[in-house]
Amino acid sequence: MKKEMYALVKETAAPGLTLKKIPVPKMGVGDVLIKIRKTAICGTDMHIFNWDGWSSRTIRPPMTPGHEFVGEIAAMDKYARGFDIGDIVSGEGHIVCKTCRNCMAGRRHLCKNTVGVGVNCDGAFAEYLCLPYENAVKVSKDIPEDVAACFDPLGNAVHTALKFDVAGEDVLITGAGPIGIMAAIIVRHCGCKHIVITDVNDARLELAKKAAPDCYTLNATRDTLNKAIKDLDMKEGFDVGLEMSGNQSAFADMVDYMNSGGKIALLGLHSERTVINWDHVVFNGLTIQGIYGREMFETWYKMMSMLQTGLDIAPVITHRLDARDYEQGFAAMNSGKSGKVILDWSKIGEEA
Ligand code: NAD
Ligand code: ZN
Repeated sequence: MKKEMYALVKETAAPGLTLKKIPVPKMGVGDVLIKIRKTAICGTDMHIFNWDGWSSRTIRPPMTPGHEFVGEIAAMDKYARGFDIGDIVSGEGHIVCKTCRNCMAGRRHLCKNTVGVGVNCDGAFAEYLCLPYENAVKVSKDIPEDVAACFDPLGNAVHTALKFDVAGEDVLITGAGPIGIMAAIIVRHCGCKHIVITDVNDARLELAKKAAPDCYTLNATRDTLNKAIKDLDMKEGFDVGLEMSGNQSAFADMVDYMNSGGKIALLGLHSERTVINWDHVVFNGLTIQGIYGREMFETWYKMMSMLQTGLDIAPVITHRLDARDYEQGFAAMNSGKSGKVILDWSKIGEEA
């Protein structure tokens, strides 16, 4: 086993990441050591890369970010269970305390003491990642590695899209980012009626159209949802809303265009002072459900089952790069035009 590995390190409290050699992490009790094959870049990694207000309050350099990954089990502590060396795994990036009320009740996604991989501890932008065995998830061999590297955001999309029954329903998705587009593909797989997806960025809407061809795309800077309702000959409002933009006006519009009794699953991260029409919520009996992370591990089970029965999110992946070209990957993400960006770690460190 190597003693040193390459990792993308946030060295100081400033923008950027540095590819450098650091020690291979040491396993603790019950840990598995994962040899990373591929990682995907998340919006959270962009905050860390760009060093904005949230990251300066949250991140303690030096540290290694990254939490969307696929790899293979390279070593296991003697207390790790359920895996063999060589198993292909992805993993849940929320490490939970196992002792709070929600953890004890099996609602681990609601743990009060969650530690975020690649946020509060070292993450996956490296040749090796250490993870509690309970967080590792075996990946079925028929699932492409690029797709498995996206399990974390795909899990967000699955958790949100399956929160309410969408079969036969008209679904509004606000925000055609990677997660919004994955949600469109999922609700189609689950038998919804119309899908309307909105964004303010035409490149994102084009990607949505390519990845989920029968969804109705709408640029919220040019048109209102009235146009979608008219074009689709919808008689009433939307039955289910999936808020995936984190934008105040998108959320406010969603609330206004819901049918009575409509249900909204809220994944997008909003400012504390976001304003919506509360009268509309009350008089129309709307349900608004916050969504955090992925259910451990029901979301993972459903996600894998759907991928094995025809769900295809590969069109959301727009860039595949060698990890040494990470700067191109972060630039693509910063452009606002990309879908998921994959970094391949399989060639890096071969010379060592
Ligand atoms: P993203 O930033 O790539 O996508 C958001 C999209 O919303 C962008 O394409 C943007 O152009 C669009 N948008 C902005 N203003 C809009 C408007 N007025 N109307 C419609 N669309 C608008 O983000 P993502 O990675 O796809 O994630 C989606 C959201 O989910 C983000 O807010 C993210 O922070 C959040 N998130 C939450 C969790 C959780 O556990 N709750 C987990 C992951 C991501
Ligand atoms: Zn807990």
